[in-house]
Amino acid sequence: MKKRIIIWLQIILIISAGSFAFAAGLKSHTSRDKPNVIFVIFDTTRPDRLSCYGYKEITSPNIDALAKDSVLFSRNFTSVPLTTPSHASIFTGLYPQNHKVLSNGRRLEIRQKVLAEILRENGYSTGGFVSTSLLDKRTQMNRGFDVYSDTMGVIRGANNKRIGGGKKPAEVTVGEALDWLKSNERSPFFLWVHLYDPHGPYSPPDKYVRGGAPDKSRIKEMNEAIRRGTRNFLKANNLDGNAVIDPENMKLVNALYDGEISYADDEVGKLFSYLKQKGIYDNSVIVFMADHGEMLGEKDGCFGHAPFVYEGALRVPLVMKLPGIPPGKIDSMVRNIDVTPTILSYLNIEDKDKRDGISLLPLIENADGPRPEYVYFGTGPIEPPPDTAGKPPRRNGGKLGVRTNKWKYWRAAKESFLFNVEEDPGENSNLAQSSPHRIEELGVLLTPYENISVAGEEPKKLDKDRLAELKALGYL
Ligand SMILES: [Zn+2]
Repeated sequence: MKKRIIIWLQIILIISAGSFAFAAGLKSHTSRDKPNVIFVIFDTTRPDRLSCYGYKEITSPNIDALAKDSVLFSRNFTSVPLTTPSHASIFTGLYPQNHKVLSNGRRLEIRQKVLAEILRENGYSTGGFVSTSLLDKRTQMNRGFDVYSDTMGVIRGANNKRIGGGKKPAEVTVGEALDWLKSNERSPFFLWVHLYDPHGPYSPPDKYVRGGAPDKSRIKEMNEAIRRGTRNFLKANNLDGNAVIDPENMKLVNALYDGEISYADDEVGKLFSYLKQKGIYDNSVIVFMADHGEMLGEKDGCFGHAPFVYEGALRVPLVMKLPGIPPGKIDSMVRNIDVTPTILSYLNIEDKDKRDGISLLPLIENADGPRPEYVYFGTGPIEPPPDTAGKPPRRNGGKLGVRTNKWKYWRAAKESFLFNVEEDPGENSNLAQSSPHRIEELGVLLTPYENISVAGEEPKKLDKDRLAELKALGYL
């Protein structure tokens, strides 16, 4: 009987803390002018590689300067380490299970409005500038944008055959965003700039490589080794790693990955300088965040992000500059899905749709304010390669889990994982066998998503071009 009461209490907790807090913060800030809203999203960026998050190398002077004017969230998490689903979560405030973009390249088809649509309805001019075809118009991530630039560099396959657009470097994307800002007379505006550079393969411009860039063939070899490491790891059902990188090479991986961040940071600095020069920086909301992190050799040689739910893949930076709100640091666990509800409540815009995320404004304004108690997460096998399309999908990569401030639990096909992330942030000691009660408690929290997990999706056939692109981008 007691157990049943506990379960009910947990279900009530899910409902009250999760979905229906969309109107939080509406009462405050009634007399604020409409500020501009700018989202800068880096792909594949770990907070611990940014100097403002304590990294010993200076990789991000421009983001650091922004952070000084902002609220910095030290423990922020994505729900999915995949580009398209994660961005859909950022702009809908919904878990992937609810916005239904469960893997890369899928279309966003829900009726709930996304942030750009709501801001446009509220008088904002809107411009989106993305750097990977995983966010192009076919995914409907352009919803609500007056201008959406998703033209990419060309990827060529066998026999030099054109496969399609893949990605573009920060200088091109930032250049397009600046052109739009210069020609866009209308204020307020909503600008989204997505930079893909920190995503592998790592090949920053030479001047950003610490210690000097080695020759191109060495960089290529390094990226291949990383790819092999990830593939081997997958093959082993994520249970055994393959440390394919020796310490000397690992130094190079770090220098290349950090170099990509520095390069993107430098480009974003041009955007911030322009805003300052025009006198519009102060009255702009600026959000800096990432869609997911990156494994950099932890857990016996894991690289990449898509198959992983370790902290390296799910923990992401979040910095919010909110005019009128003093800078600060918040250590409570928060989530990418909370960003859209926070911005809407800050702007005093009523949100008619339900979101899984909650506004963080009460927490920002009062350290004792309500805060997210947990984050769901998951990932699954992404599309099967073309030659197996139509055959039963590989299911052994699928995972579904939940993280609280203290505990992190996930289920994979053959094993469960439980870590006390407060005491064991490296996720080294799996307590699943020794703590069945804890698993039972956390398992209850997973109930709403058990049957519609990211991991459980039946991959449908993507068109041939899309599959080729995913392959070229390193996903298959
Ligand atoms: Zn991504």
